[in-house]
Amino acid sequence: MKINLYKCLLNLLYPLKCLICKAKLEVENTWHICLHCRRKIKINLPPFCLKCGKPRTQGLSDTTCGECKENRYLFDRAWAVSIYEGVIKECLHLFKYRKKRRLLKLFSELTCNFMERFIDYQSIDLISAVPLSKSKMRQREFNQSGLLAREIGGKFKKTVLNGNLIKIKDTPSQVALSGAKRRLNLIGAFKVKEPRLFKDKNILLIDDVFTTGSTLNECSEVLKKAGAKKVYVLALARGS
Ligand SMILES: [Zn+2]
Ligand SMILES: [Zn+2]
Repeated sequence: MKINLYKCLLNLLYPLKCLICKAKLEVENTWHICLHCRRKIKINLPPFCLKCGKPRTQGLSDTTCGECKENRYLFDRAWAVSIYEGVIKECLHLFKYRKKRRLLKLFSELTCNFMERFIDYQSIDLISAVPLSKSKMRQREFNQSGLLAREIGGKFKKTVLNGNLIKIKDTPSQVALSGAKRRLNLIGAFKVKEPRLFKDKNILLIDDVFTTGSTLNECSEVLKKAGAKKVYVLALARGS
């Protein structure tokens, strides 16, 4: 009760505003964006590719996409919570580059809802995040995927093991590179510190954005070499 009163007073002095459209927010709002903006987030609903999680045209079901027919992914299956555009893209940008860490609640809620609906999480033994290199970590101060992994682990009572899969090579920004160059860049970029911790485990690997899947592929390969039984991937958003 006391906290509520304090919150209300604080809200009178410094009104909470939607981080996207600046509309005034209710005191109870924990997402830090308004309902109107939240509704604009496109959740990745089925049908999606049974291998890489890419959204599929309505009418197609239980199939894999063209890229996956060539079977180039080394993870067992991937899902993406939303489509990487508009509000979620802006939110992720604010979170990563403008340090708006209060958006973590929104990300974790979206991800946990998705997991409950579409992922059989009983078989997952542990959760791990795609790591950042040391210098990236110093520059950004936190790993967005690591924070999300911890939230999900807490909610589903799963062990979270961040820091055992590490990034040992700094790679230039992947955005401007072609698929082949991305893959070349990433060779030898990841390492497992203690393979026995991953051995025979079903791992859920968390990432913020699934773009070409090169990073996730490279991580999956390293995890499998360490003895992981299955590697599943869950990304907050899916680029095209
Ligand atoms: Zn808004
Ligand atoms: Zn696919």
